[in-house]
Amino acid sequence: MGGYLMQLQNFSVNDGDGIRTVVFMAGCPLRCAWCANPEGQTCCNAMTHWAEIGDVLKKLRQQEIFYRYSGGGVTFSGGEATAQPHFLAELVDALYDDGISLALETCGQFDFAALRPVLQKMDLLFMDLKHPDTQAHRRFTGQGNETILENLQKAAALGVPLVVRIPTIVGVNADDATMEKAFTFISGHCPGAKMELLPYHRYGEGKYTELGLPRPSADFAAPTKAQLARWEALAAQQYGIEVVSYK
Ligand code: SF4
Repeated sequence: MGGYLMQLQNFSVNDGDGIRTVVFMAGCPLRCAWCANPEGQTCCNAMTHWAEIGDVLKKLRQQEIFYRYSGGGVTFSGGEATAQPHFLAELVDALYDDGISLALETCGQFDFAALRPVLQKMDLLFMDLKHPDTQAHRRFTGQGNETILENLQKAAALGVPLVVRIPTIVGVNADDATMEKAFTFISGHCPGAKMELLPYHRYGEGKYTELGLPRPSADFAAPTKAQLARWEALAAQQYGIEVVSYK
């Protein structure tokens, strides 16, 4: 039993608390027009590989001393980790029984009832809200946002600390009206959730060439630091949302 991985990244400090290993799992139901990990959109390609559960667990357990001393742990990411629900559940169950702290980074497009036991074992959940408007969400990711909005609300009610992440991209969602619509949803429907704005970057573009895919639109850009700061202040002061940064 196993699944498809892109890589295990040790000594990460941007994906939760402390020193972590990020498990980049392959496969994703979305096709975001700006995706920084296009190799993770499908399970099987030249940049992914099959991994046995026992081998993955062995590698993660070798890092346990770093997790313990730093307050870190393991973060499941992708691609979209929930796209391989059985692989994810097996890894989560074993690491949870070890007492290792767990986090999940997800796009939110998954079957909540099926994933509930996995989510309840997390110490921290990062869930994306890429666009509050379903038509725009479909245009930029290939799927409407109905399931994601529903899952965000269910996740907020789980009792697991939740950070709603907004990839903030000029040409997609980085405008006042869209940001305020997102803040309104978070403050109204995700009580207790924190929020992180992730400015767009182009680090993954070389992979598009390697995979023979067209690069993301040249129109996409990062907002300025001043714009980000203004939206963060607005979210905190007018919507009562706690703003955090793990990057
Ligand atoms: S959800 Fe993440 S991995 Fe999937 S297409 Fe979007 S950016 Fe890429």
